[in-house]
Amino acid sequence: MAGISRAERARRQALLEQGLKECTKCQKALPVAEFNRDKARWDGLDPHCRGCRNSYKAANRETLAEYSREYYAENQERCQRLTREYLRGRRAEDPLFARLRTAASKARRLGNHVESFTSEDLIHSWRGQGIDPAKCIYCDSPFEQIDHVRPITLGGPHIPENLIPSCAACNSEKRDKPLIDFLADRAEAEDTEPHPAVGRYVTTWEPTEADKETAA
Ligand SMILES: [Zn+2]
Ligand SMILES: [Zn+2]
Repeated sequence: MAGISRAERARRQALLEQGLKECTKCQKALPVAEFNRDKARWDGLDPHCRGCRNSYKAANRETLAEYSREYYAENQERCQRLTREYLRGRRAEDPLFARLRTAASKARRLGNHVESFTSEDLIHSWRGQGIDPAKCIYCDSPFEQIDHVRPITLGGPHIPENLIPSCAACNSEKRDKPLIDFLADRAEAEDTEPHPAVGRYVTTWEPTEADKETAA
């Protein structure tokens, strides 16, 4: 209760003892129930009575609405900024994150089946099949891209079971080729054995005749 005299303070306390408080706006002594609570105040009460608060709100409805619109707009910008910062951070610490997001939105645009899973889920699934997430499954070069074994353009679903780690060169060479043709070409050219985990993908995700017609 800074800034008021000892006498004024005594007067207010005497009023409070009778269950009354003087509104600093309309100057009326009213029952304390007429005041909103305000923990920050010495008596735990709003200095203005509810009546005064309500008429202020009524008189300033437009201004208050405008204020809350501005507040929202500013906050929206802040939220968007925080989201951008979050995504930037995730991309930096998790190289799969951005690739998965891009692939999922492409698959969704094409109307393909999209499951929601994290990079950790995918890595776990790869490790479970003996696939090294840091290497291209076709040539052992460092991981660069996610290959949709059954291509997204051929209706391939965006699910962990349809994804394998690839390098950019292999991914672009494979493109929309059925996996079995790609592997056959590879084996012929380089006399290499495909990674044992690839076999499962060959049987699971060969394009159907309908897929081939759609892609043609
Ligand atoms: Zn009042
Ligand atoms: Zn490769």
